[in-house]
Amino acid sequence: MIDYLTAFSAQYKLDMRKDAVGNIVISKPATPGMENHKTVALQSHVDMVCEKNRGVEHDFDKDPIQPYIDDKGWVRAKGTTLGADNGIGVAAAMAILVSDDIVHGPIECLFTIDEETGLTGALALQPGFLTAKVLLNLDSEDEGEFTIGCAGGKDTTITLPVQTEATPAGMQGFEVEVTGLRGGHSGVDIHLGLGNANKIMSRLLWNGAHLLGLRVHQLSGGNLRNAIAREAFASVAVPADKKSEFEQFAASFNEIVREELKTREPGLKVTVKEVAAPATVLDSGLQFRLLNSLNACPHGVMAMSADVPGLVETSTNLSSVKMSDDLITVGTSQRSSWKVRKSMSTRWLPVLSA
Ligand SMILES: [Zn+2]
Repeated sequence: MIDYLTAFSAQYKLDMRKDAVGNIVISKPATPGMENHKTVALQSHVDMVCEKNRGVEHDFDKDPIQPYIDDKGWVRAKGTTLGADNGIGVAAAMAILVSDDIVHGPIECLFTIDEETGLTGALALQPGFLTAKVLLNLDSEDEGEFTIGCAGGKDTTITLPVQTEATPAGMQGFEVEVTGLRGGHSGVDIHLGLGNANKIMSRLLWNGAHLLGLRVHQLSGGNLRNAIAREAFASVAVPADKKSEFEQFAASFNEIVREELKTREPGLKVTVKEVAAPATVLDSGLQFRLLNSLNACPHGVMAMSADVPGLVETSTNLSSVKMSDDLITVGTSQRSSWKVRKSMSTRWLPVLSA
């Protein structure tokens, strides 16, 4: 692709620069009368996701993609991915570079490498490689939309050593499940106000501990950092003489959260099931800190943009709670279109250590 763009710029006598990793900028002067306009950079990436159908012989290092136009007029590829992400952005930039009938100010077309494998091309960009102060990203998936900014992301992981003690005498075991939530992507769906299984579970456990002396044996919920937790599971113990009280509490808790989320989460279900009491539970100090922290841990939209209507500026996702024999790991992920706010949001996380 770099060779191709090099030849392309030579063919159309356009100024081209290449940096050490292989990113390319091809510049085109303003059309007459537009010289005083700001230089605009049009950015796209030249790599693609290389996938082929089962049984297709294709070496992505050597063989060309075989495009065709289907009966509805869409360009597709025979047996492989097409590379429309981000070939369409590259093509749009090239179309402007060769056009002689589009009126524009000075243009710098930036073609970056290795987006799909972790944005390493963009990360290697050096100051001064571009002169433009305005950059349009042509890698959005909606026609007619340009991307003029983005949210930065940050993961905050909390780990706590597991400390246990023998389950006090006279306890009844229960399994608690929060299921049926829709899940969703923490970057795309955070504004929808979907239920978070970890938040629902920690609220139940916190109240159960305060009202009925519930003790936690095991706790897990959610999985990927960028997914809103769909399910959470806990193994707990309550004093045997509070057994039916706990069942009533869980049933009314289920009704309350289902009512709260009935429009957004019609499938939500909180259930408890009687099981044998576990041999051990979390140390009471650890349980106190863990449940207080999870219950207080923010989740969802933290701030909306004051400048772009409808844009979530800062959000945080309480994505996962995992417990092994010796470690509790709480995964959270923050996003903000404002760098400072992204870090500030972490400060709202409660302190988990003693
Ligand atoms: Zn892309």
